[in-house]
Amino acid sequence: MLLGMIPNKENLGGKLMRATKQKMAILDFLRSKRAHYNAVQIHEAVQKQIPTISLSTIYRNLAQLIEAGEIASVEASDKCVFYDGYTDEHSHFVCERCKKIYDFPVAKAISEPEKAGFTVKNQRVVYFGLCSECNNTKGTK
Ligand SMILES: [Zn+2]
Ligand SMILES: [Zn+2]
Repeated sequence: MLLGMIPNKENLGGKLMRATKQKMAILDFLRSKRAHYNAVQIHEAVQKQIPTISLSTIYRNLAQLIEAGEIASVEASDKCVFYDGYTDEHSHFVCERCKKIYDFPVAKAISEPEKAGFTVKNQRVVYFGLCSECNNTKGTK
C-alpha cells in the first residue's frame, strides 16, 4: 500500500508498523528536503495534507518512526528536539545563535571507544557552537 514515495522500501523499517497516511505525510515532508524540523513545524506542514491531524498524533507518529529507524531525532541545546528524515550516518552541528542545524560527514578517524577495543556501530555526534555565517557577522549585531 505504499505510494511510491519512498524508493526501495516495501514496508517501513521492515517492522510491524503500519504505513498510515499520517506517517507517509510526515516522512514525505521530512524527506522533501535535507533539513531538520521540530514537531510544530512538521505539524504545520502535515496539516496542509491532513487538516484534522493533532500535534499529539504527530508526536506519537514521530516516536514510532524513530523506533522503526525511519527518522532520527537531534537534540538541540534548548531542550528542543528536531527530526531528521535522513538516517544515514552523519554528524550534526547546532548553531547556538541562528539555531540552524547542519549536516556533516562523520569523521573517519578512529574514535576513542574503538581505541579502547569497543566496536562502534553507530555514532551520533552533535556539535554546538557558531556556524560560519554567524561567525562572519559576529559583533555586528
Ligand atoms: Zn548560525
Ligand atoms: Zn541531519
